Amino acid sequence: MKKRILTGDRPSGRLHLGHFVGSLANRVKLQEEYEQFILIADVQALTDNFSNPQIVADSVRELVLDYVASGIDPQKSTIVVQSKIPAIAELTVFYMNLVSLNRVLRNPTVKTEIEQKGFGESVPAGFAMYPVSQAADITAFDADLVPVGDDQLPMIEQTREIVRKFNSLYGTVLKEPEALMSDFPRLVGLDGKSKMSKSLNNCIYLADRAEEVEKKVMSMYTDPSRLKPTDAGTVEGNPVFVYHDAFNPNKEEVEDLKNRYRMGQVGDVEVKQKLVLAINNFLEPMRIRRSELEKNPQKIDAILKEGVEKGNKVSEEILSKVKTAMKINYTFK
Ligand code: ATP
Ligand code: MG
Repeated sequence: MKKRILTGDRPSGRLHLGHFVGSLANRVKLQEEYEQFILIADVQALTDNFSNPQIVADSVRELVLDYVASGIDPQKSTIVVQSKIPAIAELTVFYMNLVSLNRVLRNPTVKTEIEQKGFGESVPAGFAMYPVSQAADITAFDADLVPVGDDQLPMIEQTREIVRKFNSLYGTVLKEPEALMSDFPRLVGLDGKSKMSKSLNNCIYLADRAEEVEKKVMSMYTDPSRLKPTDAGTVEGNPVFVYHDAFNPNKEEVEDLKNRYRMGQVGDVEVKQKLVLAINNFLEPMRIRRSELEKNPQKIDAILKEGVEKGNKVSEEILSKVKTAMKINYTFK
């Protein structure tokens, strides 16, 4: 039997090239080898978008389009909407008794995010609890493995602690998941900032049209110390060349551009024009898959409906075992 893995995203906007190189590309590969569940974590997205639920609602179908465009095959991967899986919410409530408030607040991933989001003293309790709800996500689908980068390891550790605590109190019911460590590359932003990120507004989205890609690339940040094309330029860390390395399959062309750039024999315009072509070629098959699905919106609903049905089947079984172990699986005749 194939091992089961759980991945997912918070629906709060569209996915960009950073998401693709950082996780989607990996999932497209993983779906061949594993039974993959992909969770659209809308409940979790509300923990920091509670004042703007429309973004979350609108992003659910957008995510499905981004997934299918990226090469996720709904026949191979099960796409599940979190809010449609009541077992996750129930498990979260049960697990909250198995973890101390201090332990949750000391979670390094949560701590960093609380700082980044500037919550200060008014961290919503729901946000602080999201590692507990992730434990519910992972165990609800009985996942063996969770693909993570090293920054997410504390989340898996938290889940493992909850599972061990549960099993030692109530008997062995839950599976202790393992992290599937990957070396996730971080993609720089159009502005040269270390990370392409929605909130930094430095993204090429998977759904961008060819003209949008052209506009964005042509105004990209390059080497700030290079004033004219005849100046020697720096290739290392230059986002234009980072993107060439990531998206231009023509290695010879890339090497030639790099050499000429270093010697001051090529202008930014040529480097960028070739990059526009490379990124648009890279996105083209995604555009084709996206537009096919867009023409057929009931197919998106069918994918979600099927995913939710399958997700509920698996998670209800787990929940029932959990409740039996906790002696609250009453039946009243
Ligand atoms: P926000 O600005 O709202 O934080 P974002 O664009 O930074 O959004 P996230 O939702 O924070 O995206 O990212 C979720 C996950 O996607 C990350 O944990 C990471 O795995 C992956 N990811 C996001 N941005 C990048 C990037 N630039 N390079 C590689 N992976 C990325
Ligand atoms: Mg982010």
